[in-house]
Amino acid sequence: MYEELKKEIVDVLKFMEIKGLNHGRSGNVSVRIKGVDHVLITPSGLPKASLSTEDIVVVSMSGEVIEGSRKPTVELPLHTAIYASYNYFNAVIHAHPIYVTALAIAREPLPPVIEEAVLYVGGEVRVAEYAPFGSRELAENVVKALEGRSAAILPNHGVVTCGKNLEEALEVLVLVERLAQSYILSKMLGKITKPPDEVIKYLSELFRRRVLSLE
Ligand SMILES: [Zn+2]
Repeated sequence: MYEELKKEIVDVLKFMEIKGLNHGRSGNVSVRIKGVDHVLITPSGLPKASLSTEDIVVVSMSGEVIEGSRKPTVELPLHTAIYASYNYFNAVIHAHPIYVTALAIAREPLPPVIEEAVLYVGGEVRVAEYAPFGSRELAENVVKALEGRSAAILPNHGVVTCGKNLEEALEVLVLVERLAQSYILSKMLGKITKPPDEVIKYLSELFRRRVLSLE
């Protein structure tokens, strides 16, 4: 089932490795099929950039395996909790890119310092409250941090990005990592400025309309 979407997931995993957005066995990617509520998700453990379409598991929203011989990622509850809470997201990427992870270690949110980012993320990228990886508590905390946003930082861990499709979730991941890099560099320069509040408000309103129109 869903051979084309599985191929898309496999390609995204390779892209993430090449671009330094993820590495080795870490990270996981899923796509939700609306209507039937099937979720295509990466397996636990294996090096992600060398996965093939047969390694992608199809699960139900309650987590039971429908197709595939692999064990789904330990972060499955994180993915299904996001889909259950936010009807407008159909793709979730979790990764450990260097710069966002640096903010995750500092437990520092990523402020909306670049106008473009507000359009794609909705505002400040919040840091979820801490909970161990793979836990239901982490899933709940991330869902909270994602309210009105398409990305959230997982403390001492990494990042989650979401979209109406995989392409959009990947776009958000690339943007958030670049934004984190620029933000950290600007902090080293010692001066942080933000776009005017009314610009942030206008752009976040555009984001909300674009996201909510998908419901
Ligand atoms: Zn992780």
